[in-house]
Amino acid sequence: MKITFYNTLGRKKEDFIPLKGNEVRIYTCGPTVYNYAHIGNFRAYIFMDNLRRTLKYNGYQVKHVMNITDVGHLESDADEGEDKMIKAAKREKKDPYAIADFYTKAFFKDIQSLNIEVPEIIAKATEHIPEMQKMVEEILANGYAYETSKGIYFDISKLDQYPILSNRKMDEQIAGARVEVDPEKRNPYDFAIWIKADKNHIMKWESPWGLSYPGWHLECSAMSRKYLGDEFDIHTGGIDHIPTHHENEIAQSKGATGKIPARFWMHSEFLLIDGGKMSKSLNNTYTLENLKEKGIEPLAFKLFCYAANYRTKLNFTFEGALAAQKSLNRLREGYLKQKQGNTKVEEKELEEYKVKFLEAINDDLNIPQAMGIVWEIIRKTEKSKDYATLLEQFDQVLGLDLVHAEEYLKTQNAEVVMDEEVKQLVEKRDQARKEKNWALSDEIRDLLQQKGYVVKDTKEGTMIEKA
Ligand code: AMP
Ligand code: ZN
Repeated sequence: MKITFYNTLGRKKEDFIPLKGNEVRIYTCGPTVYNYAHIGNFRAYIFMDNLRRTLKYNGYQVKHVMNITDVGHLESDADEGEDKMIKAAKREKKDPYAIADFYTKAFFKDIQSLNIEVPEIIAKATEHIPEMQKMVEEILANGYAYETSKGIYFDISKLDQYPILSNRKMDEQIAGARVEVDPEKRNPYDFAIWIKADKNHIMKWESPWGLSYPGWHLECSAMSRKYLGDEFDIHTGGIDHIPTHHENEIAQSKGATGKIPARFWMHSEFLLIDGGKMSKSLNNTYTLENLKEKGIEPLAFKLFCYAANYRTKLNFTFEGALAAQKSLNRLREGYLKQKQGNTKVEEKELEEYKVKFLEAINDDLNIPQAMGIVWEIIRKTEKSKDYATLLEQFDQVLGLDLVHAEEYLKTQNAEVVMDEEVKQLVEKRDQARKEKNWALSDEIRDLLQQKGYVVKDTKEGTMIEKA
């Protein structure tokens, strides 16, 4: 059946056909491993999971690469600020490699708890320095870059079109730019592909341009090319990657190979919190662990994300996520009931459901519509193993791990009983704070601390973490 995906490059839905036979080659921009990933980040990886599962469900073989940024991602997407890894190393008084190792492991543990399939190839930036250097040399040799006292810069004026992905208007941005333009740059939007390290910089490598390190965008161009070739099928990332990171990736690849590396560029929208931006300074970035403390499983967060298409903004609230947890349990119970049913379902009816489901997912991953079909089947009054089998089949795409429904329901019940006392304390403390009864609030905090929890006050109320 036909598949259509929205392609940021053409700004419209386009029919998807792999470039080469039955294999789909995908590249996903992965995490910068300097901290725990937050639930907004995971919305992007849930989209990635839906995409690869949908392609596999359609019978394609998937060769999927995801990078791990463990060097070179400065605080801003342009070339300003400190390297995020080095900043984290200073904060935690650890070696940057130890930081990367710790948060990479944490990331994959979270990915596993979300039942997100791990891409076939995981590529770390620090393990691809020679490939990146070679690409810089090629870009220089092709006349698309130049050297300054700070590093090697990409010359955007050499391209036939820049920007190509975004609608960003260069002149307006330059006029409104907050930072002073580096006088050594030929064009204000030229960007560093290779950065000369100052004396105290920790992560740096020998190169023809002295001790230095890669610009953030370079790793994705070099690693996608190494594993997927000069041209592959799909490149994914979050919507924030469009104006700088992906724009510059395309520029670099064109500078080296003359080609736009991917045919489809797919981007997932942001997860908002209370209708606004998630940010560390607002203290409203939550991890999966924070959700678990409120009794929300990672898979319930995945189901929560299924309320909206990946291309629309989604507003996170704890009430919404708790409702998703309840829905997930209803889904599991409904599936188990179908599994015990003995009604025989006509092949024709099953086929119709299969077609409807496929139409939904193949229409630019319309997961909310696919979930509508799932709920229709769950609600069937005549229970049937045939329906359960159908749900298992659909779950190959949804990845809600329905086959283990019984185990999840059991462990959840056990946890609820165990944590009831703690939950009541949290509620009592929130009430005390509402009533400005600070003495009681402090008393309960001490009690929670004695029970081994770290207590944090947030806009959402008391949050606790196991110490
Ligand atoms: P980073 O580790 O900062 O490079 O981000 C990892 C992924 O998370 C990228 O694909 C971002 O686009 C995505 N991302 C960051 N913040 C959000 C958010 N609030 N909602 C959805 N995706 C996000
Ligand atoms: Zn990237």
